[in-house]
Amino acid sequence: MSAREQAESVRWGAEDPSGLLEAALEGARADDFNCFVTVDTDASPGDDDGLLAGQPVAVKDSITTEGLETTVGSKILKGYEPVFDAYVVERLREEGATVVGKTNCDEFCMGSTTETSAFGPTRNPLDPSLVPGGSSGGSGAAVAAGHVDLALGSDTGGSVRNPAAFTSTVGLKPTYGLLSRYGLIPYADSLETVGPMTRTVEDCALLLSAIGGRDPRDSTSRGERKRYEPTGLDEPVRVGVIEELVEGSDDGVKREVRDAVSSLDDAGHDAETVEMEGLDHVVSAYYVLAMSEASSNLARYDGVRYGAGPNERGRYDEVFAKVRGDNFGDEVKRRIMLGTYALSEGYSDRYYRKALLARRLIADEFDRLFSKVDLLLSPTMPVEPFRLGEALEDPLRMYLSDVCTVPANLAGIPAISVPAEEGEAVGVQLMGPEFSEELLLDAAREVELVR
Ligand code: GLN
Repeated sequence: MSAREQAESVRWGAEDPSGLLEAALEGARADDFNCFVTVDTDASPGDDDGLLAGQPVAVKDSITTEGLETTVGSKILKGYEPVFDAYVVERLREEGATVVGKTNCDEFCMGSTTETSAFGPTRNPLDPSLVPGGSSGGSGAAVAAGHVDLALGSDTGGSVRNPAAFTSTVGLKPTYGLLSRYGLIPYADSLETVGPMTRTVEDCALLLSAIGGRDPRDSTSRGERKRYEPTGLDEPVRVGVIEELVEGSDDGVKREVRDAVSSLDDAGHDAETVEMEGLDHVVSAYYVLAMSEASSNLARYDGVRYGAGPNERGRYDEVFAKVRGDNFGDEVKRRIMLGTYALSEGYSDRYYRKALLARRLIADEFDRLFSKVDLLLSPTMPVEPFRLGEALEDPLRMYLSDVCTVPANLAGIPAISVPAEEGEAVGVQLMGPEFSEELLLDAAREVELVR
């Protein structure tokens, strides 16, 4: 039964929310794949009313939950219990859902595999010797393992879509500003958003409908509350296939994505090959910008205001260095150093400003392409899931695997990953112009129907 149908039976009184919650909590407590860093054993069943009546939801640990420990996979926030809910969590509760627990993620969302978490790696339920993708790997794995039907992730450069692809689930990165970032712990504000992760496109649409709305506490919030109900496509659409991204992918990925394209073609849609300029620069531009913003954002973890504090007193600079030295992991330290360098006097023109220019070019390139086609299609990930430990040894290789996902974050446009084949760890990514979520969800539903 889908979450939508289940919520319906709760509203009709045919299903008891406490039974649903108990089942989800049992799965979360057993947790063979290390999906959860915190399980809310005191959680009480949601209302029998609302879009998500009685639905248990797993929430990525980058999203604040009142009174429930929130660490973003970092030792530096161990013990931090936020005093407020994120906007999207407020919305979940208002629509009758219950947060069952917080899901594991790469430390401060920096990674593509959920291995940089201070609380150990998450494993892929499709094959536990593989990573689940990242950084929202705990959310993807919790859905794939069947602990929950609905989960929230966050996506700065692919962190919702990548684990969706690797765990054969659905993940949507909405238009920048569609969802409030109030209570999303920042990594790189100008790029990131919350995103729904589910087993089906229908449930993805349901979850998006529940968490939307304008929020004055986030100055970039410009969404409207809206009900999305994808049924597939009634009319043929023009789909631009970004050939360079397909061709550059591993053989298994290439095959699956080409099959999905032929199925769309057979169903009467017009799939054509397009060339996208600037793809050579997207990964470098993304990492310069993301690391620069991260170096500034993470300055707040000084051991005084949040989480891990010093045992001994001392000079502020010494305590600051010790707390950060002891509690940040290697990947986070690498990014703070590179980001600080890219912003420093004399270098910011060479790196930061150049990256901003590249970002502008990519956004213009999307505008050009969307004047010709309705949607763009590519693989979500150019590779199949790494073996556990494999990507950590080669960070550059890991960064490069973000080539298909980062363009949408640079341009602020929506993108969805849907499994090319049920149960296969290959995602088809569809991208559309700003605020084209309705079309995107319909098209993703169409991929599910024709595959
Ligand atoms: N893998 C990318 C990074 O490490 C994206 C992560 C994300 O979207 N949070 O920055």
